Amino acid sequence: MEGEVISRNFIEQEIDKDLKEGKYTKVVTRFPPEPNGYLHIGHAKSILLNYGLAKQYGGTFNFRFDDTNPTKEKTEFVNSITEDIKWLGADFGDKVFFASDYFDQMYEGAIKLIKKGKAYVCDLTAEEIREYRGDFNTPGKNSPYRDRSVEENLALFEAMKNGEFPDGSKVLRAKIDMASGNINMRDPVIYRIARMTHHNTGDKWCIYPMYDFAHPIEDAIEGITHSICTLEFEDHRPLYEWVVNELEYENPPRQIEFAKLYLKDVVTGKRYIKKLVEDGVVDGWDDPRLVSLSALRRRGFTPESIKMFMELSGVAKAHSTSDYAMLEYCLREDLKLKANRMMAVLDPIKLIIDNYPEGQVEYFDIDNNQDVPEAGTRKVAFSRELYIEREDFMEEPPKKYFRLFPGNEVRLKGAYFVKCVDYKKDADGNITEIHCTYDPETRSGSGFEGRKVKGTIHWVSAESAIDAEVRLYENLIDEEKGKLNEDGTLNFNPNSLTILNNCKLEAAFKDAKKGDSFQFLRHGFFCVDIKDTTDDKLVFNRIVSLKSSYKPS
Ligand code: ATP
Ligand code: MG
Repeated sequence: MEGEVISRNFIEQEIDKDLKEGKYTKVVTRFPPEPNGYLHIGHAKSILLNYGLAKQYGGTFNFRFDDTNPTKEKTEFVNSITEDIKWLGADFGDKVFFASDYFDQMYEGAIKLIKKGKAYVCDLTAEEIREYRGDFNTPGKNSPYRDRSVEENLALFEAMKNGEFPDGSKVLRAKIDMASGNINMRDPVIYRIARMTHHNTGDKWCIYPMYDFAHPIEDAIEGITHSICTLEFEDHRPLYEWVVNELEYENPPRQIEFAKLYLKDVVTGKRYIKKLVEDGVVDGWDDPRLVSLSALRRRGFTPESIKMFMELSGVAKAHSTSDYAMLEYCLREDLKLKANRMMAVLDPIKLIIDNYPEGQVEYFDIDNNQDVPEAGTRKVAFSRELYIEREDFMEEPPKKYFRLFPGNEVRLKGAYFVKCVDYKKDADGNITEIHCTYDPETRSGSGFEGRKVKGTIHWVSAESAIDAEVRLYENLIDEEKGKLNEDGTLNFNPNSLTILNNCKLEAAFKDAKKGDSFQFLRHGFFCVDIKDTTDDKLVFNRIVSLKSSYKPS
């Protein structure tokens, strides 16, 4: 990419160097999720990074399930993960790879190591292995089984495979260096005995490879060039290199680590999200308050906004946290031109126009999106009885309140000026209806210039209003008090979900389909819930409000 002026992230710089030096001729990346949960926003970073690099360098992107650990893996997760990756737009061609398809090659790899004198069967218990391993300050001790002959190791490993030993009674270990400063290199376990049914290979195997041995082999078999992973694997890189070198792969892949995405005051991490689901704090993996990709999709996030967020947050070698507000900024940027702007009254109160003919309905042409002329206009019904927001009226307004109050005139968005002449209250003092008069001269589009009003409010005509439920979300975590309570438990925001049951929407919403997004004028962006919406009931999720606390630098 000569002449490129845009600064390149550190991974791109490494790839540029590898290509220039002829280490690789093509870039092949992968995303290797373990099917043990749903993907979250952090995974989206990894997906978009790997896919983006493959695309940028004209290479290939592999989507591979790292399904070597049968206990936790479920077909349900395989399906949801696949759907999430498609949704993000990461094109993985027509093949999904499974690490378990390589069990035979991994087994052969283990035999190759044994034959080279680089692996041995060890009878120490897990506890003993841990003791012998030493720690950061103490070198490890050699296992008494370390010097078994190649023949003995081959025979024992085969017997392990044939199910001749109980679970956990023996392991295969790489023979590296018990005194290494890197504990991962102190004869790591590479195979264990475990009788578990695997979702792909069934009961064919009773021995399974460990991650650090399996992963480099998977990469090498697929011809991955750059195996990009997160920082916690940095200390495992020497082992990764040891495996691909000892197994003598040509053009072996190289591992490059980057920092995980963390969102401030947001629960990410499969394990933590899973606990919220299991504890019933949220209503499933797709609860719109979560940041699993299925939850974000349901809430109304767009793949484009997530991509923009990843670009803004960058790729770094050092840990940092990003602000959720930045993600919201990206959403607003994406939705403001895509979503039609319509009128919805979330907390309705009746407004009656005393001098408007009873039974009459007229229609106004209102822009679908003032910033997008191509979005066109729609007809919006207007009649004697309307709904407005309860908060757009006050009996005794403070200074600078320009909305409705007795004697004041406001503009009804796209229609007429109305002036408040009266209001009614119930026995408890709640306002029940507001009475106004309208001025026919002020009809929108008539060019009326007689006088000005300071406030414009939105409204919905009662005769054709559509009922809806609207769900408002706030952060699951109480940001003001911080993420954790003193006892280490998560500090939940009691207002993370508010359900409004009695919302009134303009008639054009009758065509809204599950998953459609709109801007509710003056309120924010909302999306038709894909799960709880039925033919009889529209349910909306607030995606994001209109206000922003984030300023792009
Ligand atoms: P979690 O950290 O949520 O438990 P995981 O790392 O166990 O996730 P995997 O299925 O093993 O989940 O991850 C697949 C890929 O996604 C890995 O390469 C992993 O490094 C990457 N990944 C996971 N979390 C993040 C994150 N927060 N930011 C960037 N990449 C991530
Ligand atoms: Mg993992």
